[in-house]
Amino acid sequence: MDYIKQNIIELQAQLPAWVKLVAVSKTHPIEAIKAAYDAGQLDFGENKVQEMCNKHEQLSNPNIRWHLIGHLQTNKVKYIAEFVEMIHSVDSLRLLEEIDKQAKKHNRIIDCLLQFHIATEETKFGLDLEEAEQILRSENYKNLQNVRICGVMGMASYSDDIKLVRNEFKTLNSIFLAFKENYFASCPHFKEISMGMSGDWKIAIEEGSTIIRVGSIIFGQRNYNLK
Ligand SMILES: *Cc1c(COP(=O)(O)O)cnc(C)c1O
Repeated sequence: MDYIKQNIIELQAQLPAWVKLVAVSKTHPIEAIKAAYDAGQLDFGENKVQEMCNKHEQLSNPNIRWHLIGHLQTNKVKYIAEFVEMIHSVDSLRLLEEIDKQAKKHNRIIDCLLQFHIATEETKFGLDLEEAEQILRSENYKNLQNVRICGVMGMASYSDDIKLVRNEFKTLNSIFLAFKENYFASCPHFKEISMGMSGDWKIAIEEGSTIIRVGSIIFGQRNYNLK
């Protein structure tokens, strides 16, 4: 698995100092994670709770920071609340309330990102502007003490149309700036824009990304059948 090490080193060398790489290890075995870790990679992204828990347990490495990047069902928050580093995919008040409740049980404050629907495609999860504002204005949200919203996350369309992808990233950046001004003006921790994957991370960084979530160009193609 030397290629994984090499890919990590080459990718990290291309990133500006302020951009964090989350290596998306979903569907790949723990040996792949170990190879990346040996190259100095500490942040890993998984999109399924069960898979993240298994890997967390098997690796049992307290230096590894686990990012939940996929759609999260409320009833599964309890399995990751003790150890998850950041939840990128918050898309409802109900989910945020559950994260808060489970974080409290472990005496933690869990970092979260609001996921926005920025792609023109139908299939992607995420909030629209109005839904997000509704959450932030609600009394229920204001009472939460064990979650910390650190920024926004989004996925661009899966498309060769660079202009389209760039525009979607621009949209997320402008949402971030507006929210920072309107809701998080006094919160220095509200500073993250999680956008950019294997096919579009360079564009994402040009458009202000602070966290890229990259899988296949590090670990190779995913084979869902072998899982
Ligand atoms: C799988 C996934 C990624 C990484 O995708 P690649 O194209 O393999 O880099 C990033 N973000 C989310 C939310 C994902 O599910």
